Amino acid sequence: MESYQLDNLIITLNKEGSREFSKVSFPIRYGLFSEIRTPEYLFQFNLNGEIKFIRGLPRTWPHPAEWLKRTVGNDWVYYSAGDYKGIYDYFGEYYFPYLSYPSNSIIDGDPFNDQSVILAKKSLQALRARIDELISGPKPKSLKEFLTRVIRNDEETLRRRADQLHHFIGGQVTVLPPDTRHVDYEVIPIIVADGCLYHCGFCRVKTGQDFTPRAPKDVMRQMKELKRFLGRDLHNYNAIFLGQHDALSAGREVLELAAERAYEIFEFERSHLRGAYLFLFGSVDSMIHSEEGLFESLSHFPFSTYINVGLESNDPKTLEALKKPVSVEKLREAFTRILDINRRYEKIEVTSNFVFGEDLPSGHLPSLLELTRNRLNLIGNKGGVYLSPLVDERMREKASKRELLRRFLKFKTGSRLPAFIYLIQRL
Ligand code: SF4
Repeated sequence: MESYQLDNLIITLNKEGSREFSKVSFPIRYGLFSEIRTPEYLFQFNLNGEIKFIRGLPRTWPHPAEWLKRTVGNDWVYYSAGDYKGIYDYFGEYYFPYLSYPSNSIIDGDPFNDQSVILAKKSLQALRARIDELISGPKPKSLKEFLTRVIRNDEETLRRRADQLHHFIGGQVTVLPPDTRHVDYEVIPIIVADGCLYHCGFCRVKTGQDFTPRAPKDVMRQMKELKRFLGRDLHNYNAIFLGQHDALSAGREVLELAAERAYEIFEFERSHLRGAYLFLFGSVDSMIHSEEGLFESLSHFPFSTYINVGLESNDPKTLEALKKPVSVEKLREAFTRILDINRRYEKIEVTSNFVFGEDLPSGHLPSLLELTRNRLNLIGNKGGVYLSPLVDERMREKASKRELLRRFLKFKTGSRLPAFIYLIQRL
């Protein structure tokens, strides 16, 4: 770690954050990063000199322990502490990520309208201009290089970088699995299959494409391009997301190839972060039909693997209303296999998603309790259940949101599996 003072800027290079993702109720940073402290803000950058976090220091900032984060997809997210306890009960995390784009949140408030948050985002431009004034003259090489990168990474460059990322993988990741919260959504996305099997009527994240696996050659191409793209910041990652909506259907060959080669190509053994994580989505059909050998082999890779499966409902009327072309019998068969895999493989956790909303048939929530309570003898700490709010314009009313949160807590109390709300995040 090196520290320098340039006028009223305090610059620290290669600061070490935590080496392990953890759930804590105070601001935490991971891996290796550099920061610039001004009298008003704390700016933190990844090893490419791209802005990653901003926290306001003056009294006008909404909360001393809250911050803004910029994702690799160039979206801003505001991490709010809420009242800590409530947020943790709903999401399993101490911070609630307010998104700067439309999603399915049922938590009120929009910090992106807060003047101090608007100013914090704008302050980057002034910071770059200030550095530009101060950079000339003799300086240590590492400091000069870092400042040059910060100046170069202006809004336009960061936008182009996100476009480049999406170009490499063939489009935006419309939704990340809820389990990626365990690594603060810091995943390297690799697409092993496009589209999905069902084209459900209710779904807002589907790409509309028919399910098509990518060729192994394309998966390898993506990984090589992504490694070049991440550059110096590569070792700040230890997690991959195999997309898009049903990677589990892509089959054993491509999944094994992706898992095995990703670990080597992204040099996870040399990561600044401990452990390695693999995330993917599955479907009712892929859960039922995947050969046992695939899970066997995934469990032997050096990853903690999380598979998230969209089940949506255990009630035939709700499935019909959602226009999900899957029978309740098949769905129960998939759920039985989920329980079985969670029991058999220590390093694999399969979680499931169900919808959750105001206008669903009355049998929906009782049918979920039938699955997650009556069918199980013991309380489990694995195989979490995520409820994904179906929100529409009318849900802007605070009272409706409060009612949904109340219903969620009632469900959570009854479920024998851990239960959380699913906030849809893109990359
Ligand atoms: S819920 Fe899943 S399977 Fe259904 S349309 Fe959306 S992405 Fe496809």
